[in-house]
Amino acid sequence: MAYFTTRPSTGAHFLQLPGPSNVPDRVLRAMDHATMDHRGADFGVFTTQLLGKLKAVFKTERPVMIYPASGTGAWEAALVNTLSPGDVVLMCRTGWFAHLWQEMAQRLGLVPEFIDTDWRSGADVAAIGAALAADASHRIKAVAVVHNETSTGCTSDIAAVRAALDAARHPALLLVDTISGLGSIDYRHDEWGVDVTVSGSQKGLMLPPGLSFNVASAKAMEASRTARLQRSYWDWAPMLAANATGYFPSTPATNLLYALDTAIDMLMEEGLENVFARHDRFAEATRRAVSAWGLETQCAVPARASNVLTAVRVPEGHSADALRAAIVEKFDMSLGNGLGQLKDRVFRIGHLGHLSPLQLVGTLGGVEMGLRACNIPHRPGGTQAALEYLAGN
Ligand SMILES: *Cc1c(COP(=O)(O)O)cnc(C)c1O
Repeated sequence: MAYFTTRPSTGAHFLQLPGPSNVPDRVLRAMDHATMDHRGADFGVFTTQLLGKLKAVFKTERPVMIYPASGTGAWEAALVNTLSPGDVVLMCRTGWFAHLWQEMAQRLGLVPEFIDTDWRSGADVAAIGAALAADASHRIKAVAVVHNETSTGCTSDIAAVRAALDAARHPALLLVDTISGLGSIDYRHDEWGVDVTVSGSQKGLMLPPGLSFNVASAKAMEASRTARLQRSYWDWAPMLAANATGYFPSTPATNLLYALDTAIDMLMEEGLENVFARHDRFAEATRRAVSAWGLETQCAVPARASNVLTAVRVPEGHSADALRAAIVEKFDMSLGNGLGQLKDRVFRIGHLGHLSPLQLVGTLGGVEMGLRACNIPHRPGGTQAALEYLAGN
């Protein structure tokens, strides 16, 4: 079974999804070591230092918990550890991922109260503030927001959501999904007063899929002592107890932990602020290309445009999925598809993680050739606009 490439000898496949993202060779090499005895003495030393240095990525002093699961698992962990059946959770439907988190909350027996958006602008902080201010009896137990909405390419202002909670003097917990934001755009668990942070491995952290994360504030830990949703595998208490000595309650994804250790080293060697600046540069180059093509980004509010990915709308009467299929077929590049109500209406360019300026230029060149090959109305020169920006910055 050829799982390694779509073509045998035509150069590297371009994996420009907004996750899973490209895994650096150095991270792949790190996994290529014998699996350790996860109950042995060496493993305790390894894990202790890993858990220590992971904190800097989340900008927290709190312990970071690691689950062998995709991001969806850590979503569930955030809910079941802090809430009880029938609890009201205020959620903002910023796009498809916010929608899926809401469906999960409903299935778990929570009562999501939903603030809808146009999927083009991130979380509606004013509406969140108004809902909190109107909730004098504190029915709302948590506010759940997606930091980087991967289906639309819009970010949400988490500090502003925190400020809305504070302004309303509301005790609800703040739960934040930064599955696709962490490691690519700035995130501050402690400073932003987040109660539970949820993240995953296969986006900005440059790892394969398979790990996900929770960080819990002291207030969230307190809530977990009385929360009554059923939990077993996701329970924080045994995880934290085992982690305290460098171990896990069940078998960890050992080789992915080697990868994580190396990926953090790479982020720290580049410097987080430099990593964010690189993403800012690549996103700006991409937006300039889209604008020069005469196309529209899904994100309609420039201040909320994501530096992780850009979702591009195809003109009415044209198919984003047909364009993506042609680009795979002709140029061996994978782009993200439209999700939910955006199916076939947008394609998503991932410009996150392990990416160089030349890879970005190749990516934009592939998109431009695809637009031409599929006769999608556009002006030529988007890639040129990106070249000019990148050359000067
Ligand atoms: C990828 C993603 C998820 C889902 O994570 P999985 O690893 O696919 O379970 C959830 N939220 C956001 C914002 C994402 O980008």
